[in-house]
Amino acid sequence: MDRRHCNRDGILTCAYCNRNARKTRDHLFFGCDLSINCWHMIGLDWTSLGPDPSFMAYIRHSKNCLHRDLYKEIFLSAAWELWKCRNDLIFNNVTPTVQVWLLKLKISLKNQSCRFKEHAREALRD
Ligand SMILES: [Zn+2]
Repeated sequence: MDRRHCNRDGILTCAYCNRNARKTRDHLFFGCDLSINCWHMIGLDWTSLGPDPSFMAYIRHSKNCLHRDLYKEIFLSAAWELWKCRNDLIFNNVTPTVQVWLLKLKISLKNQSCRFKEHAREALRD
């Protein structure tokens, strides 16, 4: 975030894990304790990608591990819900949990499911 000059407060620690990690996309979405645990809940583990994987490597890995017709929707919705959890923490002082994140992800996917193919909708029910 500070690379985009969004770090106006000068704080370089993550709002969730309080590690002295720079507020980067990679930390927020893939390296933070919260995000790691959230991705694990849907069967994604990034450790096999090695250090500093590219954003496309994360997407390719998702394609290999998630339902092939839904991986983009799941990946993007999961990341979006992580972003919203981070905002809830910063702006509303709501401590995020994996359970709440998962519930919101399921609701988000259900709300989008009308545009999924029937077999993909059935896969979501599982
Ligand atoms: Zn963190």
